[in-house]
Amino acid sequence: MNRPTVARVDLAALASNYARLSERLAREAPHQTPGVIAVVKANAYGHGAHQVAHALEDAGADLLACADIEEGAALRTAGVRADILVFGALGVSDLDGLFDCRLTPTISSPGAARAVQAAAARYKQRVRYHLKIDTGMNRLGFRFDNLRRTLPELLASSHLELDAVYTHFATADDPDSGLFELQRVRFEQAAEQLHTLGGRPRYRHASNSAALLRDSRVWFDRVRPGLLLYGVVPPPLASTLELTPVMTLGSRVVAVKGLRPDEMSGYGARFTAERPTTIAIVPAGYADGLDLRMAGRGTVLIRGRRAPIVGSVSMDMLTADVTGLDVSPGDEVVIVGPQGNDRIDAREVATSIGSIPWEILCRVGSRIERVYT
Ligand SMILES: *Cc1c(COP(=O)(O)O)cnc(C)c1O
Repeated sequence: MNRPTVARVDLAALASNYARLSERLAREAPHQTPGVIAVVKANAYGHGAHQVAHALEDAGADLLACADIEEGAALRTAGVRADILVFGALGVSDLDGLFDCRLTPTISSPGAARAVQAAAARYKQRVRYHLKIDTGMNRLGFRFDNLRRTLPELLASSHLELDAVYTHFATADDPDSGLFELQRVRFEQAAEQLHTLGGRPRYRHASNSAALLRDSRVWFDRVRPGLLLYGVVPPPLASTLELTPVMTLGSRVVAVKGLRPDEMSGYGARFTAERPTTIAIVPAGYADGLDLRMAGRGTVLIRGRRAPIVGSVSMDMLTADVTGLDVSPGDEVVIVGPQGNDRIDAREVATSIGSIPWEILCRVGSRIERVYT
């Protein structure tokens, strides 16, 4: 038995996006081509972490990144063999997963360093880690302007081995922000200071999707794309990379109803027909991750045409105005993706409701079956 609302995940598109990006890096930096850290956190942006991780491994990825130890452990359980970097702050209590699942932690505070050092000593293992420098995001990381005081103890930790140093940009997708440039300079200075203090990381990395599109000076030795791998360019940026959106979200019309003038539809009676109106009922609602704000703002594709979402998005369904289209139950509905000559992409959905494409993808609900092609 299958629900009609399905997210199709095109793993060939994912592999192609990975290849296009790798080719671009090699072409533009032939002498020092950065490697890729493929970001698969948050269930691979809603696409399914296991399938995406395996497909990326097959495409050549040797380092994946996830948000926390639990995500990394789930990848190992699924048989992923590539190195796995954990971006997030480490819980103080449950570091066992690092050792049991061979994960690479980010160390972003002196306290975390002590906790991992103590755990590694207990396990009689040396842990390779990535050092995170806070260059202005002011979230996780060692402050860039305090390294002389904070790094010596970390670098002297007997069971910790510095593998890489990195930072994260707060405004890479904002061409008007000067902070991006400031963070780049601070990171370069921090890397020098690390060297002065005796730290010898094998490599440096800093670029999320927006940063890598924007400025090759921040490619360093590896780049960390997430959104781009899924075929979406971070707004408002543009790219000549040939990317294909990996996820298509579709459904089918389950019922069609005629409204007479002045009749309403849905909770709150937010939509009133001004003329004889035909409404298609689509079994996808906020329990599937759709956003309430799509009502009155978004559209879906039915029979190759745009049908405005009207009334209210409810838990299990939405309604679209299909007046004038010859719509019947069973007709295919596209919520995100192409149909006919038209396409609704995650950027457009995000813009229509004041959100961002990352959120649109990540929120596709667990009730929705992922079908892999
Ligand atoms: C999520 C994340 C990325 C990837 O970001 P995109 O904008 O999706 O490319 C890179 N680095 C870190 C530290 C992240 O948390």
